[in-house]
Amino acid sequence: MTMAATAEQGTGIGHGSWERVKERLRASVGEDVYTSWFARIDLEVVGTDCVRMSVPTKFLKSWIQAHYSDLVLTCWQAELPQLKRIDLTVRGAVRCPPPPKDAKTQLEERRVERIDSRPPPELRIAAIAPVSASHDALGGSPLDPRLTFGTFVVGRSNTLAHAAARQVAEGRRGDSVMFNPLYIHAGVGLGKTHLLQAVTWAGNSGNERKVLYLTVEKFMYGFVAALKSQTALAFKEALRGIDVLVIDDLQFLQGKSTQAEFCHTLNALIDAGRQVVIAADRPPADLEALDERVRSRLAGGLVVEMGSLGEELRLDILKSRVAAARSHHASFDVPLPVLDYLAKTITHNGRDLEGAVNRLLAHSKLNATPVTLEMAEREVRDLIRPQEPKRVKIEDIQRVVARQYNVSRSDLLSSRRTANVVRPRQVAMYLAKTLTLRSLPEIGRRFGGRDHTTVLHAVRKIEGLVARDSSLSDEVELLKRQLQE
Ligand code: ADP
Ligand code: MG
Repeated sequence: MTMAATAEQGTGIGHGSWERVKERLRASVGEDVYTSWFARIDLEVVGTDCVRMSVPTKFLKSWIQAHYSDLVLTCWQAELPQLKRIDLTVRGAVRCPPPPKDAKTQLEERRVERIDSRPPPELRIAAIAPVSASHDALGGSPLDPRLTFGTFVVGRSNTLAHAAARQVAEGRRGDSVMFNPLYIHAGVGLGKTHLLQAVTWAGNSGNERKVLYLTVEKFMYGFVAALKSQTALAFKEALRGIDVLVIDDLQFLQGKSTQAEFCHTLNALIDAGRQVVIAADRPPADLEALDERVRSRLAGGLVVEMGSLGEELRLDILKSRVAAARSHHASFDVPLPVLDYLAKTITHNGRDLEGAVNRLLAHSKLNATPVTLEMAEREVRDLIRPQEPKRVKIEDIQRVVARQYNVSRSDLLSSRRTANVVRPRQVAMYLAKTLTLRSLPEIGRRFGGRDHTTVLHAVRKIEGLVARDSSLSDEVELLKRQLQE
């Protein structure tokens, strides 16, 4: 345990807060997701407007940042409303030196005072549910000024989504709505949030219509909080008073009553001819947690998928990022061969492209050196996903799988057939087949002398399950990452 964490828990209050934050997280994502992503998150230190937590691997850090940062922040804000951001570090990575003792004592004291002086819950909640609807007053999620249509690069994979989003943004009050809801789905980092925020900026700029952008967490917590404070009616009325409701990351919508309310809100808005725009990481039919009625209502509008960013689009995005950076840092320049290299190698998502440009900028500023190919290779090494899976050892697979499922390695090799060891064993054999070059008979031998047909059965079984069961597929993905890191 770190010094900071000890100090944190020493106050008693911080520890209780942290436990409640974790409970809230668990309640909102469910036990399985919680165990996969949050079981190993530790609290490091609570600052004035920032909480620092740590996780054991880079992969967990980036996954949590990409998928759950708003949710984690919201869960914390329920304890400490003045928090503005969360900070995740990788344990074992270089840490900033702890603040001098005096400063820390002060920090702790201030925190205690803040907790004690929080307004009673009714007041806090009323503040996000005023009757007059405007983006900020309604508790709209924060908007990033850079995410506009002006900075959105159009390419083959997003032409339709972009055109639909523009159409929605340009609508005027009273226009008939062409497609409702507009539902955009795509994988992580492919521009959903960018497009949704662009709609919000553009729609609000004329001041004629009210466009409200909410992450689904804000919707859930705003709503649930409002219910508790009995201002639900006001909150609903306010929501219904807007012209365009934009909801991001719908896949996180959870809970029966919240769902029912979401459904009512959706119906009320659509029936009143108001536009709804939604983004999620999967098509409506795959939102298993949602009621059939909601799914069909969602599918009844225009559903558009954005595909992965092609190389050409990646290059254009990089160019536009560099151009934007140059408007503040005139001396910053990235030669075309470097841009080509980045576009070829950073294939995963837009967030990594942005990260790469930021690093090159930081590096060239700090060292006052021009960007070269060699520097770029060094700086972005960790953003490049390996083309071929790294060689992994079967023992490592067994160790990591055993730890993940809380069984022992000898359980995996044994002939026990209870469910709690059969599935982990199958997963481990599947990983052995996919991550190593070992043959089926050899894998069988390494798993307690099993026959190669048993291995084949396990591999097929897991392949089949992974295709249908997204939580298993996430688990397997997590294991792969751990093994390849
Ligand atoms: P998502 O919400 O789908 O996970 P984001 O909208 O947050 O993804 O995009 C991740 C990053 O990639 C952002 O910095 C975004 O600006 C950038 N990006 C993605 N697609 C585009 C695009 N077509 N043009 C410009 N930037 C993009
Ligand atoms: Mg997003």
